[in-house]
Amino acid sequence: MGSKDLVASIDAGTTSTRFMIFDSSARVVASHQTEFTQFFTHPGWQEQDPHEIIDKINTNIVESVKQLEAGGEYKASDIKVIGVTNQRETTVVWDKNTGKALTRCIAWPDNRNGQTISKLAGKSEEGINALKKETGLPLSTYFAAGKLRWMLDELPEVRKAHDSGNMKFGTVDSWIIYNLTNRAVHITDASNASRTMFMNLRSQAWDPKLCEFFGVNMDILPEIRSSSEVYGTIHEGPLKGIEIAGIVGDQQAALVGQKCLSPGEAKNTYGTGAFLLYNTGEKVVDSKNGLLSTIAYQPGPKAAPHYALEGSIAVAGSAIKWLRDSLGLIKEASDVDCAADVEASECVFVTAFSGLLAPVWDSSASGTLIGLSGFHDKRHICRSVLEAASFQSKAVLDACEKDSGVPLTSLNVDGGMTNSDVFCQIQADILGLEVSRPAMRETTALGSALLAGQAKGLFGWDITKPETLSKVNVSGRDVFKPQLDAKKREHLLRQWWRAVERSRGWAED
Ligand code: ADP
Repeated sequence: MGSKDLVASIDAGTTSTRFMIFDSSARVVASHQTEFTQFFTHPGWQEQDPHEIIDKINTNIVESVKQLEAGGEYKASDIKVIGVTNQRETTVVWDKNTGKALTRCIAWPDNRNGQTISKLAGKSEEGINALKKETGLPLSTYFAAGKLRWMLDELPEVRKAHDSGNMKFGTVDSWIIYNLTNRAVHITDASNASRTMFMNLRSQAWDPKLCEFFGVNMDILPEIRSSSEVYGTIHEGPLKGIEIAGIVGDQQAALVGQKCLSPGEAKNTYGTGAFLLYNTGEKVVDSKNGLLSTIAYQPGPKAAPHYALEGSIAVAGSAIKWLRDSLGLIKEASDVDCAADVEASECVFVTAFSGLLAPVWDSSASGTLIGLSGFHDKRHICRSVLEAASFQSKAVLDACEKDSGVPLTSLNVDGGMTNSDVFCQIQADILGLEVSRPAMRETTALGSALLAGQAKGLFGWDITKPETLSKVNVSGRDVFKPQLDAKKREHLLRQWWRAVERSRGWAED
């Protein structure tokens, strides 16, 4: 294949979808991004329109290809293969005869199913850890199986389609590929499947016992494939006939895009939520400290999967959006940098808008801002939001060190929030370690592009041999060093945990 070859990625995030086209060194040669609607119809609920997601993806493809060709250097036909990466756990159900969604997607942060989960946890003496051994996950409002169970209990049209054998279920990757291939394939990859609670983590197969636990018919589930192989072709539009050959959940994609491909390497992505993933290689590490065990990626149909420990934080950048859109405290996300005007927030904000995920796992926790006085102004509140993402990451990092027995010395970061230097410095201070940010921060899109490129033998990429990626994304990094006194850090962390305790239980009363 010639040097003009390109690889592209559909990055279907929580708040926006992007299409990015990369060259062999992971330079972005064209891209287009579109936000889509989030429906917050009740406290704790978050829905999306599955058909809008597909429309926005198609718009992004058309616009990026126009941009690519307008540059004069490349043509659409230079794009050799496409990868898909997606917000995980978000649950889609559709009619298998018409291909139409039966209801809106329930997005991953949505915690409406708290009672469903409590009931399920009540079935076993192990409580929320009833399925931890098989799935690597605690019972939580977060994962797809519990969201689907809620739909089956509460939405008669979904139950009817399920019971009559007319329904298909998928996470967003399945939905996208089903639509882009004109309903030719109903598939998912091992990394996305590992977030449903229907898959056995070690065998990578749907587990009849898990399906029975949730009362779900197995025939609605997609086929589980590897993260890097040809699945089908795009059926219309400017990229008609181009193969899709990579699927990977967005957080696992960022792990790949950051080239954290060896055991002991980790990254944290601060987007809508924040997700720290720590590569454990071909070994499943069972967390004793509130982390998830998950599939990171399976780099080919015959390849062994790589696993990761993960600390999932539900609210990070979404709290900045909330400051902007719901409170009107700031006009742009970047205005949160006014936090730099004050040395410390002098208050604590537990941004538990949909309960707390790792390492606490408490759906009864709710948003708590404590320690306020007349002294505080919006700069302190902005800073407390940046600190909240950092404190939660510190809690996850500590859990990670306990589980792995290996202290991290540096953390690779990316995601929308890391556009803020102020935030990156606060992170380094609170984590007490170096924070390293790549200049090209579209690591999520890049991760799926690498997996797709590998499947087609493009550029010699092979993520099981990191040396084959030595020319990929080497445009430099910014390193933020911790400057905060250790005693002060410990004091702040103690305050954080006191505030977390106060946030718990409120939503239950
Ligand atoms: P996702 O893939 O989850 O949709 P992104 O990685 O695109 O998320 O990040 C979006 C988030 O980043 C938003 O919630 C936004 O508030 C935050 N963000 C974007 N720009 C900045 C900035 N300059 N400073 C701080 N936060 C930002």
